Amino acid sequence: MISPTLSIVIPVYNEESGLETLFARLYPALDALGEPYEIVFINDGSRDRSAAILRQQYEARPDVTRVILFAANAGQHMAIMAGFEHCRGEIVVTLDADLQNPPEEIGKLVAKMRDGHDYVGSIRANRQDNLFRTWASKAMNLLREKITHIKITDQGNMLRAYSRGVVNAINSCKEVATFIPALAYTFARNPAEVVVGHEERAAGESKYSIYSLIRLNFDLMTGFSLVPLQWFSMLGILVSLGSAALFVLLIVRRLIIGPEAEGLFTLFALMFFLIGLALFGIGLLGEYVGRVYQQVRHRPRYLIEAILERKE
Ligand code: UDP
Ligand code: MG
Repeated sequence: MISPTLSIVIPVYNEESGLETLFARLYPALDALGEPYEIVFINDGSRDRSAAILRQQYEARPDVTRVILFAANAGQHMAIMAGFEHCRGEIVVTLDADLQNPPEEIGKLVAKMRDGHDYVGSIRANRQDNLFRTWASKAMNLLREKITHIKITDQGNMLRAYSRGVVNAINSCKEVATFIPALAYTFARNPAEVVVGHEERAAGESKYSIYSLIRLNFDLMTGFSLVPLQWFSMLGILVSLGSAALFVLLIVRRLIIGPEAEGLFTLFALMFFLIGLALFGIGLLGEYVGRVYQQVRHRPRYLIEAILERKE
């Protein structure tokens, strides 16, 4: 294999029903670009036949295909990390395996990279997700931009291109629970975005429940910024100022109007509000402590069972 200039990194988790269609569109699209490329598939501990299908594909196109087989599920972003550590291209493009990102658009990203950008994100034109998902991700985009100063118009979209320099920087990070596009953005000197098409999932179903989407967003906020903690201490100051004012008010009232016994439920309401706030604060602290804990354990972030590739 002549050393590839273009690497495509694709995480695969339980995608047996869609892989064949992906191959049928991906390989021709890349052949058409007319430059040496490699495709790195990472099987993220799939429990279906995905690994076997990838193995077959490796045997069919060993010249341009490499497959990393994880021993267990480590998550989409860890799978991409493994791909980054093993790919060799000067331009690295990530893509989902479910064909929501049309492989025919890769050329557009590569062209933009050649204009001198070191990171090219993409924005989905006519996004094919249900209303709730679209709306929720718009709201999270806004909040993330405020908190982390990371400007990614469309964060839930993995069709992105990275330069070798950015990929090397990411590889040196050893972050545990992270979000690759945001990490890349912090290293990019000249980021850009292009508009790409978006399709419905070709087959299989989404691997992200509402729960894991919430988790992902916590990782984004706490992994890239201390602002939530800082805001929380500001809130703490405001609340204590408020309670101090209330205290003074009640004392004055006691002296002027006399003792009061009513207002029990107002008191409850106030209490519940403050308890809720305190619990949220503890949870938020927990998010950070958890990250620190994961990081100091120094456990391997993923376990590789085998790598299928042709040795030069
Ligand atoms: N994926 C993965 N590991 C996981 C979950 C997902 O490698 O634990 C892969 C999945 O196979 C797909 C991509 O990550 O290629 C995006 O997942 P999905 O399409 O389910 O996410 P959605 O588009 O619904 O946000
Ligand atoms: Mg998808």
